[in-house]
Amino acid sequence: MPRPDWLRPYRTLHAHYGPQHWWPGETPFEVMVGAVLTQNTAWTNVEKAIANLKRARALSCGAILKLNGGELAELIRPAGYFNVKAKRLRHLCAFLEAQGVARHPEKLRDKAELPELRRRLLAVHGIGEETADSILLYALNLPSFVVDAYTRRIFGRLGLLEGDESYGAIQTAFEAHLPRDVALYNEYHALIVQLGKSTCRPKPRCGDCPLRRFCPAAASA
Ligand code: SF4
Repeated sequence: MPRPDWLRPYRTLHAHYGPQHWWPGETPFEVMVGAVLTQNTAWTNVEKAIANLKRARALSCGAILKLNGGELAELIRPAGYFNVKAKRLRHLCAFLEAQGVARHPEKLRDKAELPELRRRLLAVHGIGEETADSILLYALNLPSFVVDAYTRRIFGRLGLLEGDESYGAIQTAFEAHLPRDVALYNEYHALIVQLGKSTCRPKPRCGDCPLRRFCPAAASA
């Protein structure tokens, strides 16, 4: 049996959709904030919340920590779960402050090697694996593959995953089969999201899918 080619979906998606230019954010801190705010909500809502923070000149660690919880929650209200997310943002900012990088959050990458940075991020209240990896990859340019529900669904249908593996097992599978390349990880995850939103939905639209030629689920889907 030929070895599964984990780059084939990438090449096909990239040829079909083109570069996705992720992550939308002007600074590493804005990317970090976006990674927290995007939990369980659409990106358009995150954009409104970030615009509110910018308008209030509150898109910095120092400014966020100066706001009280209610003020911060009000600014990020469009992102949903705003009381919970306000707490999470404050925890993230307190963490960055404790690491000595509140003014330059991008310098977090100099504080430790990737596995240790990941452990530290996961220890922050409210930061789970997907958020931690999004911060590592998109804010800090470190090679940590981001896994989400789209990844699980699409690669389960492609026959490369069972679909019920743990987050860590899926991440390890991707990282074991792909070159360790930040730009590739960045673009691959963005393309997976694009496919998962537009085509490989819970009820898939296989007729429109660029992967249908080699997807074992295409015929039955
Ligand atoms: S062919 Fe269908 S099931 Fe396979 S990846 Fe595309 S949309 Fe998903």
